[in-house]
Amino acid sequence: MACIDCNKNIGYETFKKSTEALGVELCERHIRLIEKVIVENDTPIEAVQLFYALKEAGANPMLEWWDGNKSVDIAISRVKLNIEVDTDYQLITHEQAIQDLEEAMHSFKNGFTTIRIPHIVVKYYLKDTVNNILGIIQGLKANIKVI
Ligand SMILES: [Zn+2]
Repeated sequence: MACIDCNKNIGYETFKKSTEALGVELCERHIRLIEKVIVENDTPIEAVQLFYALKEAGANPMLEWWDGNKSVDIAISRVKLNIEVDTDYQLITHEQAIQDLEEAMHSFKNGFTTIRIPHIVVKYYLKDTVNNILGIIQGLKANIKVI
C-alpha cells in the first residue's frame, strides 16, 4: 500500500484511517495536509477523490485554487476549467441559485468555464466523471489558445 500523492509506503493502520476518512489512500503527512484543506475551505471529500482521480489521469488538477474571488474545489488551469462539487442539491434556495448564476457570469467574463458536479455522481460514477472531464478538457483545448 502506498500514498497516492507521494507514493510513500503506508501501513495498514494508515491505509484504513485514510480510506475511511477521505476515501483515498494517503500517508500521514498527506492526510494532515488534505484535512487542513477541508477544514479551511469546507471541501467535500468527493472533491478530494475526484482531484486524485484526475491527477492519476494526468489532468494536472489543483485542489482549492483561489481564482481571485473565491476558492474553487478543483481547477485545471491550463484550460481555465473550474470544477465545483456540490453537496446539497435538494436544498438549493433562490438566493443560492442567483449567486451561482452571478459567479458563472464572472468566471465566463474572465475566460473560465465552470462545471458543477453533484457529489453523488463522483461517489457512484468516478470513472465516468473523470472520462467526461477529460473530454471537456480536450474540447476546451481545441477551442482556446492553450497557455
Ligand atoms: Zn503522501
